[in-house]
Amino acid sequence: MYDLLLIRYGEIGTKGKNRHVFEQRLEANMEKALRGLGIDKIERAHTRFYIPLTANTYDMVTKLQKVFGIASISPVKRVALDTDAITQAALDIMADSLAKQGASSPGQCTFKVETRRANKGFPLTSPEMSKYLGARLLEAFPQLSVDVHHPDMTLQVEIRERFSYVYTERIPGPGGLPVGVSGKGALLLSGGIDSPVAGYLMMKRGVAPLAVHFHSPPFTSERSREKVLELAQILAGYGGPIPVHIVYFTEIQKALNAHCPPKLMITIMRRFMLRIAEAIAKAEGALALITGESLGQVASQTMASIFVTNQVVELPVFRPLIGSDKLEIVDLAQQIGTYKLSIQPYEDCCTIFVPRHPETHPKQLEVDAAEAKLPVDALIEEALDKTEVVLCGEG
Ligand code: ATP
Ligand code: MG
Repeated sequence: MYDLLLIRYGEIGTKGKNRHVFEQRLEANMEKALRGLGIDKIERAHTRFYIPLTANTYDMVTKLQKVFGIASISPVKRVALDTDAITQAALDIMADSLAKQGASSPGQCTFKVETRRANKGFPLTSPEMSKYLGARLLEAFPQLSVDVHHPDMTLQVEIRERFSYVYTERIPGPGGLPVGVSGKGALLLSGGIDSPVAGYLMMKRGVAPLAVHFHSPPFTSERSREKVLELAQILAGYGGPIPVHIVYFTEIQKALNAHCPPKLMITIMRRFMLRIAEAIAKAEGALALITGESLGQVASQTMASIFVTNQVVELPVFRPLIGSDKLEIVDLAQQIGTYKLSIQPYEDCCTIFVPRHPETHPKQLEVDAAEAKLPVDALIEEALDKTEVVLCGEG
């Protein structure tokens, strides 16, 4: 029935002189997403793409719905610039659509025809074409009746320079910008609910993430490490692969536990996390850190805590969830497919050695003084030395 997918992009259209950079990235990301489905060529034509339907439409659309930058997708039939050919395509598409809906009684299904004629050389005007096709469809299918305001179905015809396109569906894409156009960011990825969602949101704005995970064996188990790799694998489905840097955090936690005032432990631990993530980010050419923090959610996420932890890094820290409620975050986690995994109960390094009363308003001077008792640089160096990198979502 259909022979192509028509891909429209949204925000990229506003990019002026840089537009081709965005288009190239989107094309490459679509190719990657469709790898293995036998696509040999994606056609680019003025603010849109055409992809041959070489595989099952549903499979292809499902994959493309995870490619950021796509505004909408329509399965289309491409025909010549010829009224008879367009009419035949419209009849075929309508027959198929009515059969799928099981519409059999007279007038049961309402429709309208919409024509857009970009090619002014075509002999019929848009209203003339719509009127003509509407009459032919009514004649052929007694199940149809016209409703121009709230039709069940709209048959779309686009008359362009070289071809005409006929279709009925406009399937929403994920929006956003193609992954990679905004550069790299280092995502502090825990096994919790929030950080995978934060990573997803930054990917949606074109960031290619690398992940940094702090792992404290034997206090945190092999399974908790696997869980994080599985979360990274799910995120990689939106534009991976994602390298996950697994940082050996045990000695740092032991040192904190032995030498820090309990109420400042979390603040200092988070400062270590940010410092290490920044060192990895810089080595990998990433220009921002990303966390799943949400203002006020826990003691380490008050403004005062965020202020004191932020002091130790110079890269910007993106916190896309800072203004979101937990329920909103949970909703998104469910939509993107990370929630079920995130709620599996495995320990995280944040949950071991947790003081009963963490400081909600840590003072910079006190934190600096407590930290001065630790061999900060040596601890960080050791943790970085023992960092292992696992690539998630390749192939
Ligand atoms: P999450 O659900 O993302 O784990 P949270 O609500 O549990 O967040 P915290 O444990 O305070 O909050 O962590 C805040 C942020 O710090 C996380 O969103 C994540 O970005 C980072 N983080 C926490 N633990 C780790 C870890 N073990 N490895 C890497 N990053 C971590
Ligand atoms: Mg957590």
